[in-house]
Amino acid sequence: MLIFGTKIYLEKKDIIEHCEGQAVLTYANNSDDKAALKTQAVWFGDELISGNIEGVGPSLGVLGNDGGKRFDGNSKLSECVLCELRDECLSPVYPTCGNLNVMIVGEAAGKQEDLEKKGFVGASGKILFRDLLLPRGLERELFHISNICKCYPSVTRTPKKKHVDICGNYLIKEIESVKPFLILSLGNTGNLFFRGEASGITNINGQTIWNDRFNCWITYSVHPAMAAYDAANMPLLEKSIGEFVNKINILV
Ligand code: URA
Repeated sequence: MLIFGTKIYLEKKDIIEHCEGQAVLTYANNSDDKAALKTQAVWFGDELISGNIEGVGPSLGVLGNDGGKRFDGNSKLSECVLCELRDECLSPVYPTCGNLNVMIVGEAAGKQEDLEKKGFVGASGKILFRDLLLPRGLERELFHISNICKCYPSVTRTPKKKHVDICGNYLIKEIESVKPFLILSLGNTGNLFFRGEASGITNINGQTIWNDRFNCWITYSVHPAMAAYDAANMPLLEKSIGEFVNKINILV
């Protein structure tokens, strides 16, 4: 059943009554309820993008308290020998927990990440956190930061489908544990893991799409490495990160 505040119902009657089985505006103060979240696509529609509708408080973010400690750490990861990428790196890079139930998922650890044993500490991480998220008021400590492949593919370079299938099982456990309402998925490897498509990230760059399997929203983005490689790609990244920040601001 969908519950509407009278004021919203009267104001947004047309949207509510003509959604044709898609997303429906709900009076969703019960923000942990993912079924309610799922019906909130209208929040992401142009009309309601400000999120400032009286009587609706969709505070879906879990900030502080145990928000960052809900992930058990994939303790078996350090012993993993399930694919040959383990031979290409020093050690698998563990994810880091955040204070908010929002995840940032990269492709695979890079050289610097392999050395420091921490995700997104190299050139891509600097662009993402120092240049784009921090100036918008978002620190890296807010996010659960992870990669689809935990090992640095120093020889393979771009992980293949078989690596994504194997290592993706660790990420699945993380997602089930963190229960994010929003994920930032970076690059084509994310597109492969979440949507089964090995290419085409530029076509969906900056779009936030509901994911039925994980019950959350995913903002798709080109990988920051693209902007590190060629500054001409920076506007693409700014577009997707702007969208991601916008969604956080609406829903937290
Ligand atoms: N690129 C990624 O995809 N992940 C990292 O952690 C670093 C670079």
